[in-house]
Amino acid sequence: MHKQESTLIIERAFFHPSTVRRERTARHEAGHVVVGYRLGIEIKFVTILPTHHSSGHVTHGDLFCGGAGSDDAALERAIKFCLAGQMAEALFYSRYRRRWTSVDYVCALGLARYLTGWGAREIIRYQERETQKLLKLYWKDVEHIARALLEHDELTGIEVENILAPNREEEEKEMNCIAAMAPEEPDPF
Ligand SMILES: [Zn+2]
Repeated sequence: MHKQESTLIIERAFFHPSTVRRERTARHEAGHVVVGYRLGIEIKFVTILPTHHSSGHVTHGDLFCGGAGSDDAALERAIKFCLAGQMAEALFYSRYRRRWTSVDYVCALGLARYLTGWGAREIIRYQERETQKLLKLYWKDVEHIARALLEHDELTGIEVENILAPNREEEEKEMNCIAAMAPEEPDPF
């Protein structure tokens, strides 16, 4: 059967709207976590339990950590971290639409204004493509984190690390790949 058709049938048959929302939130937060982790941002806590302000959130370390890198590199990393939630949602949910007014995009646009060159929206579109590449590369990790979130609602930084770090050898290769993508960044390890 055609893949899209089978997905559609599964959604209609089994997914109550609130279940779909929870599945999307899990991918959203997992996207922030995995991209943040791979770019060297410390992940302290992640939850998919809703609050007054959000449907879930990630608590992270300083986005401008590792200060020796250029300001632009730190800004680009922070922008990718902001965008990764919605980009992960978009990869998971085909009917997704970008929300420029969401907290994540307002944050990304604010950061993009400090980068010179193109306009902020062009920078965002470029960073979206870069973030999407990272998410596709690490999609298995996104799914692992998302499933753990659906099971436990919340994960600590150590629990995140235990899910993402067991394949040391593979990780070293991946870190070299990241280093190649951002040559001005000092090696975080
Ligand atoms: Zn978000």
